[in-house]
Amino acid sequence: MRIGIGYDIHRFNGKRPLKLGGVTIPFARGLAGHSDADVLLHAVADALLGAIGAPDLGEQFPPGHPRYRNADSRIFLQQAYRQVRRQGLSIGNIDATVIADQPKLTPYKMRMRRAISALLQVSAARVSVKAKTTEGFAPGKGGIAAQAVVLLTPSKKRQ
Ligand code: MG
Repeated sequence: MRIGIGYDIHRFNGKRPLKLGGVTIPFARGLAGHSDADVLLHAVADALLGAIGAPDLGEQFPPGHPRYRNADSRIFLQQAYRQVRRQGLSIGNIDATVIADQPKLTPYKMRMRRAISALLQVSAARVSVKAKTTEGFAPGKGGIAAQAVVLLTPSKKRQ
């Protein structure tokens, strides 16, 4: 078994759609970033990469590289998971927290959970997405942060 931790944070940027966990959330502001700035998917992908000791997301998909400009972060997550599978490992479970004072994420937690489980082809029961506010402390006012822990277990052998 392997365990990995991921963390990410992005500032608000008013001109973009807000993407969290592969879901577009209706809100006046999105997040700044070279890719689509999906802070939750970045944290989960880094947890997967960390669990297998692979280079982190920023190293594998360098910000500033033209190929990743406005890139769909679902691709980052899927590529990270492909590396996990190649090591003969599968997801035991993922536990993630999004830290944001705005918008209120409670109505979207289940959608994010389902979106991540669909991307990784694991049961939604193995994916947890929680939402926290900062009670007004940074970074809640200026952006959104996310953290994730993942447990990997040996893949079942094909019969
Ligand atoms: Mg990021």
